[in-house]
Amino acid sequence: MARITFLGAAGTVSGSRHLLEHDGRRVLVDCGLFQGEKGLRERNWARFPVPASSIDAVVLTHGHIDHSGWLPRLTREGFKGHILTSPATSDLLGLLLYDSAKCQDEDAKYANRKGFSKHSPALPLYDERDVERTLRQVRAVRREEWFAPVAGMRCKFHDAGHMLGSSFIQMELSGSSPEPLRLLFSGDVGRFDAPLYNDPIPPTPCDYLVCESTYGDRNHPTSRPLDELEAATKQAFARGGLMLVASFAIGRCQQLVYLLRTLMAAGRIPEAPIWVDSPMAVEATEVFRRHVEEHDFTEARMEGVADALASPFVKMAKTAEESKAINEYDGPGIVIASSGMMNGGRILHHLARRLPDPRTTVLVAGFQAIGTRGRTLIDGAKFLRIHGRDIPVRAVIKKVDALSGHADGPELCRWLSGMPKPKQTFLVHGEPPAARAMAEQLHQAFGWESTVPAIGDGFDLSS
Ligand SMILES: [Zn+2]
Repeated sequence: MARITFLGAAGTVSGSRHLLEHDGRRVLVDCGLFQGEKGLRERNWARFPVPASSIDAVVLTHGHIDHSGWLPRLTREGFKGHILTSPATSDLLGLLLYDSAKCQDEDAKYANRKGFSKHSPALPLYDERDVERTLRQVRAVRREEWFAPVAGMRCKFHDAGHMLGSSFIQMELSGSSPEPLRLLFSGDVGRFDAPLYNDPIPPTPCDYLVCESTYGDRNHPTSRPLDELEAATKQAFARGGLMLVASFAIGRCQQLVYLLRTLMAAGRIPEAPIWVDSPMAVEATEVFRRHVEEHDFTEARMEGVADALASPFVKMAKTAEESKAINEYDGPGIVIASSGMMNGGRILHHLARRLPDPRTTVLVAGFQAIGTRGRTLIDGAKFLRIHGRDIPVRAVIKKVDALSGHADGPELCRWLSGMPKPKQTFLVHGEPPAARAMAEQLHQAFGWESTVPAIGDGFDLSS
């Protein structure tokens, strides 16, 4: 008998953790951090529902913190098994987890300073030593090859096209019947024709499908990122000032560099300096270059451009001095810095300096949550509070919509379109309206009935 229990990303998008029990073994698919509302974040402090030491292995779809960020805590609670993931995810994981440990530390220090923690003193969820131990448990497994996390179970990673290294998991459980029980975990599914990433591989037939539904209630714009970026950059350069791009350090930043260099090399926008001003983005770009065989360079190929990601024209600012040197620059140019929602990071220094200058353009290239500075700017604020000062906003604020990491509802249907009807479909990783809308689309398109589990719900799986 096999059983699946949804321990996170059920009725919400963060904290992905799906526990499989089979033949006395326990395997966890993803081990994400809960993010967002306070009520969700508090879940990070609860002990794992089963003893961490009883989990035999973790199979990890990709590196994003909402899928991997609780691993150091699992290790701290006694998990000793292997963490199996793709080679590129294994390379990115250190960057992401050390950064997460730093954020935990900053949160704890902030709580102590403000005195609002229930615990005295407030402690980080985990620290660098926990991350170090966790990384020693990681084992890289190539895509398209079977591997056995435990006896009686075999898995295969396939490219999900969502970020570097991201995979969906084909899983087979052997049991009393001659045919194995087949499962499929979508992880996060990328978009078709996304810059730098391959299209998601068609899914394998399965008895039980666990599918994401992040944007189940949305239709992404159909504009091409290259064209949108060309128009935005031309306008920015015409104003004569810098274009500041707030971007996540891993993934979005490399897509932007790739597209901007392609546009410059193809002569579609003028040549100008591009700075990547984030130590994490600089390191992540190195990882991207090491896995160049995973990239889809369609845009560059169509424009006849080679080496768009490895361009010597892109300046990597790793040290504080290199970052400060950008302040001296006056004229058309592009600075890509994190954080993506402008909550912290080096983008703040640039904003404080350049927002009062009407020649500046601020490009917002990702989703901006309510309450973030990015959202405040999009909503048309005249002043922005940075480092305790109200900075006047005279810059032009521009949004680029075409770069989303997740497939929308119709794209998920397109991805699933060749798949025979599973016995049961579970929709996870979506807010309730998104999951409901996705269920409706799957019903309309294929006649499938879907289950939207709540956190803690468990289901017996039978062949
Ligand atoms: Zn993701």
